[in-house]
Order: sequence, then C-alpha cells, then structure tokens
Amino acid sequence: MTTQTDQRSTGAPVVALGTPLVGGSHERTHGAGTAGLTEVEAERSARLAAVRAGDLGSVHSWELVTAVDGPGTRLTVFLAGCPLRCLYCHNPDTMEMRRGTDVAADDLLRRVQRYRGVMKATGGGLTISGGEPLMQPAYVRRLLRGAKAMEVHTAIDTSGFLGTQLSDEMLDDVDLVLLDVKSGIPETYRKVTGQDLAPTLAFGRRLAERGTRTWIRFVLVPGLTDAVENVEAVSDYVASLGECVERVEVLPFHQMGRDKWDELGMRYELGDTEPPSPELVERVRGQFRARGLTTF
Ligand code: SF4
Repeated sequence: MTTQTDQRSTGAPVVALGTPLVGGSHERTHGAGTAGLTEVEAERSARLAAVRAGDLGSVHSWELVTAVDGPGTRLTVFLAGCPLRCLYCHNPDTMEMRRGTDVAADDLLRRVQRYRGVMKATGGGLTISGGEPLMQPAYVRRLLRGAKAMEVHTAIDTSGFLGTQLSDEMLDDVDLVLLDVKSGIPETYRKVTGQDLAPTLAFGRRLAERGTRTWIRFVLVPGLTDAVENVEAVSDYVASLGECVERVEVLPFHQMGRDKWDELGMRYELGDTEPPSPELVERVRGQFRARGLTTF
C-alpha cells in the first residue's frame, strides 16, 4: 500500500493505479493500495482548490473484482475517510482521510477507460466504496460523471449516513446503490457505529422514491446485530422500500480485519466474538425472505 500521509500537510503527492491487489468493501479487508496510480504533488492551497473541485481525492486502494460490489467484473475504488466507527470494521485504516493517497480523478478515469472492455463484456462497471465515499462528494461526482460519459455502469457503496451529500444530479449518474444498513434499532445502530440511524433510513426512502436500483447489505454479528427484533426492524424497513430493492446480502461477521486494529493501536472490542453459526445465518436470512426479499 502506498502511504503519503506525512506529505499531505504541505502538499499533495498523488498516486497512479497499477497492479490490483485484493482489497474489499466493508466485509473484506482492503490490501491493494494505490499501486499504478500517479501520486499528485500540489502546493497546499492548490491542493485544497483541486479537492473542492473534485479533481483530487483521497484514495485508500483499488482492485479489480468479480461477483462482489455489484454485477460483473468491477473496478472498485476505496476512498479514504468515514464518519462511522463500526466495531466490526474490517478496514479501520480507511476511517481517517489523512491515511489515503491523493489521486487525480482523471488518473482514475483513465483506469476505468482501460478496463472498460472487460467491464462491459461482463456486465460490470465502476464501484466507488470506502471508507465512506460521500465524505468526498465532489470527487465522487467527477468519477460518476466521467464513468457515465464512457457509458460505464456505476455503483456506490455507502452507509447512507451522508446521503444528503449525494445530490439528485449525482444520483442520475448512479446505476446501483449498495446500501449498508447496519441495524434497524437506533440504539443498536449507535452501539455498532457511534452514529444515528435516521440519516440512513431517510436516504433509503429517497432511493425508493426515485426508483434507484438498490442492494442492501447487513453485517450479522453475534451478540451485536443478531437480536430477532433488530433483524425484524431491518427487514421491515427494507421491505417497506419496495421494488427498488433487488436483493439483500447478509454478510457473516469474521475476524479477518482484527490485525489492522492492532497495527493502528486502536482498541478492538470484538476480539471474543465468534462468526455466526450456519443456523443463525439461515435464521436471519429467513427473516428477510419471509418479507419476500431476495436474500443471499
Ligand atoms: S462504514 Fe463502518 S465498516 Fe464501513 S468503513 Fe466506515 S467504519 Fe468501517
């Protein structure tokens, strides 16, 4: 992984994308870094102007994946920075924007152009993930617009907490939203993430009103999110969104990200938590399916 955090206080190295390594969204670890992307250097005020314009963004890593983060083969870009502090986060190194690397939007879009053929042939596209991509809305706007100008399918992977940052104009350039609903009960949501549930619920309703194609993701953590009433609340909410929801993915908790917490000197509270049993996973999937939701 490329890290340029020490240079960001004075200027902005930006990195070019290269060979992809396996990274991941919220349920898998991101290890790729920004190899191949060109690191951008800019004087501080010039950097701020470029960030505001969406020309420059803070990127954690990228990877080329198939059958995750949306349909087909996808170029998934993980942006740095997140307002949530999920206890089970598998990539706590994406929480702080300063840990990312400055990458020019044009550089990323050249990468999209390079993989356009394989993405089109497989029904894939670009997925913008994080961290929380909507921490950098101007950059996301540039990437979405650039990808759509190339007629590339676009997806955004978000908790919805900053959903108001995604304007209607930007949503016009989004083909698919991967919406992480981390709990259905506000108290549990706050325990899991440190934040309020309401913005996520409001964002999902907006997607439903617009008819934006949506996949829901729910991370199942024994002792944290698995209570029957919590899953009932999530599944009731998801069912209320209607036809915009194409599928629900129940993602079993695992311990693959725990080393990163240690490396960052951060306190990890789920050290004694086991992955859910197959029976528990089936019970939870069954709660979604009972509402007619296509669930994996
Ligand atoms: S939303 Fe939660 S799981 Fe995803 S990057 Fe932020 S803290 Fe980690």
